[in-house]
Amino acid sequence: MVEQAIQNVLRDTRFYELLLRFDRQIADVAHADRCQKCGAALHWGSYERKPRGVPAGLGPEHLRRFSLCCAADGCRKRETPGSLRFLGRKVFFGAMVVLISAMQQGVTPARAKQLQALVGVSRRTVARWRDWWRTVFIDSPFWRAYGAFVPPVTIADLPASLLERFSDAAENQVLLLLRFLVPITTGRGILQAI
Ligand SMILES: [Zn+2]
Repeated sequence: MVEQAIQNVLRDTRFYELLLRFDRQIADVAHADRCQKCGAALHWGSYERKPRGVPAGLGPEHLRRFSLCCAADGCRKRETPGSLRFLGRKVFFGAMVVLISAMQQGVTPARAKQLQALVGVSRRTVARWRDWWRTVFIDSPFWRAYGAFVPPVTIADLPASLLERFSDAAENQVLLLLRFLVPITTGRGILQAI
């Protein structure tokens, strides 16, 4: 399932349009709020990212990380709304990180070659992602708060074991998992380690 999903989902521009729409909604809600530090209004301070492996046909709006900045002089605190597209500072889209590290049997040399051709991700990077799910992710406050699935998710099979808990169509699984992960995209902590 997952490998087919990599082909289908990662090349489907409609899927990225959907993710962008969610990100816009999240950002609009955050924009309507006030600065958490001083209570002033928030201005847009979105910036360009340079994600790798972007499917052909996506416009420049897909490379923009929505961000906000406090309007008050002397505060200027940055607020970064949650995102279904960008998982922290990783250079690949979150959907790719989820799907590729969820490949059930790991990355054989043949698959590594295919992945390199498809999205330009190296075998070493994929190994690092898989390691991240099973160490940093499960140690995070987020997972301690929201990871109590019944029956428990098999840690050794993360993130595939987590994907399986969300619906059954590949595209929906990824979407729902990315929505689940939104809280970790706003903070600084656990995503820097990947
Ligand atoms: Zn402020």
